[in-house]
Amino acid sequence: MADRFPAILVSKEGEKGQKVERVELGLDDLMEGDVVVEVAHSTVNYKDGLAVTGRSPVVRRWPMIPGIDFAGRVETSEHPDFSPGDRVVLNGWGVGETHYGGYAGKARVSGDWLVKLPDGLDAAHAMAIGTAGYTAMLCILALERHGVTPEAGPVVVTGATGGVGSVAVAILSKLGYHVVASTGRASEADWLKSLGAAEIIDRAELEAKPKPLAKERWAGAIDTVGSSTLANLLAMTHYRGTVAACGLAGGMDVPSTVAPFILRGVTLVGIDSVRAPKADRVEAYARLVQDLDPAKLDALSTHIPFDDVVQACHDILDNRLRGRVVVDIG
Ligand code: NDP
Repeated sequence: MADRFPAILVSKEGEKGQKVERVELGLDDLMEGDVVVEVAHSTVNYKDGLAVTGRSPVVRRWPMIPGIDFAGRVETSEHPDFSPGDRVVLNGWGVGETHYGGYAGKARVSGDWLVKLPDGLDAAHAMAIGTAGYTAMLCILALERHGVTPEAGPVVVTGATGGVGSVAVAILSKLGYHVVASTGRASEADWLKSLGAAEIIDRAELEAKPKPLAKERWAGAIDTVGSSTLANLLAMTHYRGTVAACGLAGGMDVPSTVAPFILRGVTLVGIDSVRAPKADRVEAYARLVQDLDPAKLDALSTHIPFDDVVQACHDILDNRLRGRVVVDIG
């Protein structure tokens, strides 16, 4: 039937298990909200991998349609800011965790969570950026606000072949920064250079037991890894430099000391994309249109059909994906 649409549904199975199935739903099955969006594309972020595999407790309402972001067109709206046909993007706000998410042909959400796509950005490219790319831009905005200019010195990006990392490398290089890309995949060095990395370092260098302070190597850092990597980044940041921390691909802990803060005046900025206010989102998208080369965005993203999304969610956690993955839905 025309009003039915496909969705991925994750349900609890037993005490600790969960099952993932493709189902057909109707609008009545969706959760509350004042805007219905016809989803054209979603994507695969690290958090989607955690939700679909159940490797970490990301899903907090059962059953759940995963997918922490999506882009598409407004079908119906009772929200004053949106009308049918508007092109919109959604990132975060608990979508795919506590509210049905983007792995479905349609989504019903609060209009307060939606951002209109700026001119120059279509739904497919908005999802090539995705929450990972929008978070990369939030990190860069944070570095800029703390005075990390291209003239201040190099900027290091960890998890460089991942979604956040690869978009960060591409944007920083367009902005004129000397970008140091930290990766565990030496085989991707040429690809990272094609995105704009000036130097490649082996991520093992940043996984060694951290010292309170080490040789000053960069003016800024974007960290997607956490744990010893974040502690080493702090210890290696220039006097009055800034580290933007957004991820935990290597662990939740931070085995650091206060030395970088009290002896070098280093700033550690936390980046959260989920509940970032609308003004920050609008600014980030405007800057993404301006500062992310579309050819590089195409070079770092691949498209997969809806049927392949569950496998891709396993692959992202096993470090088998590169860059960004766009899920074609509508
Ligand atoms: P990806 O899986 O695409 O990228 C993560 C990268 O980290 C990998 O490609 C790999 O890069 C590196 N990596 C993977 N496992 C390890 C490990 N065990 N130790 C060290 N490095 C590792 O994920 P995303 O880019 O989507 O997300 C990156 C991180 O940022 C995640 O932790 C995610 O939860 C977080 N995040 C946070 C947001 C926020 O709002 N704070 C929003 C979006 C993401 P390489 O092979 O190049 O070393």
